[in-house]
Amino acid sequence: MTDCLFCRIVAGEIPSDRVAETDQVLAFRDVNPAAPQHILLIPKEHVADSLAELENFSVLTDLVKVAQEIATGAEFEEGWRMVTNVGENGGQSVFHLHFHLLAGRRLAWPPG
Ligand code: 5GP
Ligand code: ZN
Repeated sequence: MTDCLFCRIVAGEIPSDRVAETDQVLAFRDVNPAAPQHILLIPKEHVADSLAELENFSVLTDLVKVAQEIATGAEFEEGWRMVTNVGENGGQSVFHLHFHLLAGRRLAWPPG
């Protein structure tokens, strides 16, 4: 058994609120949402701990397409943001590559 939280979510060992899924990608709601819409998009396979270590970029095509499809929903009409955190200064806390998809309120820029 893996001790990676997101690998366990992919395996169904930890429950999640799934929003979309393809062969390669899983999208599910963040358990501690930072915005009315806060969805995490991950490669199902643990291809990298973060974007800094990714070598095969092919999964990103599918992942961005899933994000774009989710973002056709009503709460995304006024705009949205997709972001990935890398390392300590980036604010990363789970070391399985993932992207945050955020919407539903005016998002601060620059981020704090
Ligand atoms: P990071 O801080 O690494 O960029 O993002 C990790 C995200 O995973 C955080 O926003 C956190 O709320 C979310 N998270 C942590 N544990 C769980 C969990 O068990 N289930 C879900 N759905 N999200 C989680
Ligand atoms: Zn993992």
